[in-house]
Amino acid sequence: MARHPVTLIPGDGVGPEICDATVRVLEATGVEFDWDVQQAGEASIKDYGTPLPDHVLESVRKNRVALKGPITTPIGSGFRSVNVALRQALDLYALVRPVKAYKGARNLRDDLDFVIVRENTEDIYAGIEFEQGTPDAQHLIDEISTLAKKKIRPDSGLSIKPISISGTQRIVEFAFDYARRNNRHKVTAVHKANIMKHTDGLFLAVARKVAEKNPDIEFEDRIVDNMCMQLVLRPKEYDVLCCPNLYGDIISDLGAGMIGGLGLAPGANIGGAGAVFEATHGSAPKYTGMNKVNPMAVMLSGVMMLRYLEETSAADAMEKAIANVIALGENVTYDLKEKRDDPTSVGTSQVADAVIAQLKAVPEPA
Ligand code: NAD
Repeated sequence: MARHPVTLIPGDGVGPEICDATVRVLEATGVEFDWDVQQAGEASIKDYGTPLPDHVLESVRKNRVALKGPITTPIGSGFRSVNVALRQALDLYALVRPVKAYKGARNLRDDLDFVIVRENTEDIYAGIEFEQGTPDAQHLIDEISTLAKKKIRPDSGLSIKPISISGTQRIVEFAFDYARRNNRHKVTAVHKANIMKHTDGLFLAVARKVAEKNPDIEFEDRIVDNMCMQLVLRPKEYDVLCCPNLYGDIISDLGAGMIGGLGLAPGANIGGAGAVFEATHGSAPKYTGMNKVNPMAVMLSGVMMLRYLEETSAADAMEKAIANVIALGENVTYDLKEKRDDPTSVGTSQVADAVIAQLKAVPEPA
């Protein structure tokens, strides 16, 4: 059996604990990995003067696959988000976030199964911002006020929202390809084109054109606010949601809440250069080193990684083992319990032990 070279970025906060738990489970599937462990984030600033050293990017480029823990972004420190920077540097333009209800989780309902495909490189996340009160912000306010013939208050800060034809085309094509490869029948484009005609309007127009070339998959669109309501009322009507960056981010957390919380919400950042698998949630700093948080979101990201590596039977077995642990409800962390202070909840590493025990109990595929 081939060994898979994989970059492992444990991250900070709870990252190292949940990654360690996930690596143990991945190795218990019998698939073999060569882990190339790389540090990024605040710890790297001390050693390399940057939170995202080039050698980390090089490692992901070489291995083409990475498993990543969350990385803290100190608010307002001028420290650019390493997570966003990594996605942009590697042009990981598609963020895939499945929303699947596992029996026994604190689901809004038990039949949820849809996938969010979030554009990952542009929109308000492009990082083009102008701080209130600076000469650049003032200059831009003057320019825009002249061009748009509309007044912007002089004490405003500005964040720019670029959405391009090429960026939209590739994410919508990705969504259709994803739907086809995963036996899904419909793509829904999510937007606010009625208000932002030249960004979301462009997104919708391009999505419609791409849809014409993919007649085997159904296509429709929804305005983002209506989309949120529809997902709560009629989630069965939705399959693959294709979203610009910000709406994808918000809907991902809505989706996570519908299936019992961030502890069960996995993700994959995918682009031409490779893929980085990571949970939706952040570094939960207050729980650092406490062996407390749920490792299943990273484990389920690991399942997505196994599928990406075409280790399908190992992926199926690992997902089943995780599902069994959730369904049994004994070896689960506090977030999966009815009450947060339930004394029967277990720690991060005990969840890994329980999943490994289930893996050993799951019969080998014929
Ligand atoms: P968070 O997701 O880290 O945590 C919010 C709360 O959700 C936690 O306090 C906890 O109650 C709960 N939670 C999160 N993960 C959980 C888990 N696995 N099991 C059980 N409960 C869990 O969000 P935050 O506090 O807003 O962000 C903390 C830091 O993480 C910030 O610096 C943020 O920028 C960063 N962040 C990183 C990533 C990433 O690395 N991709 C993503 C989001 C946020």
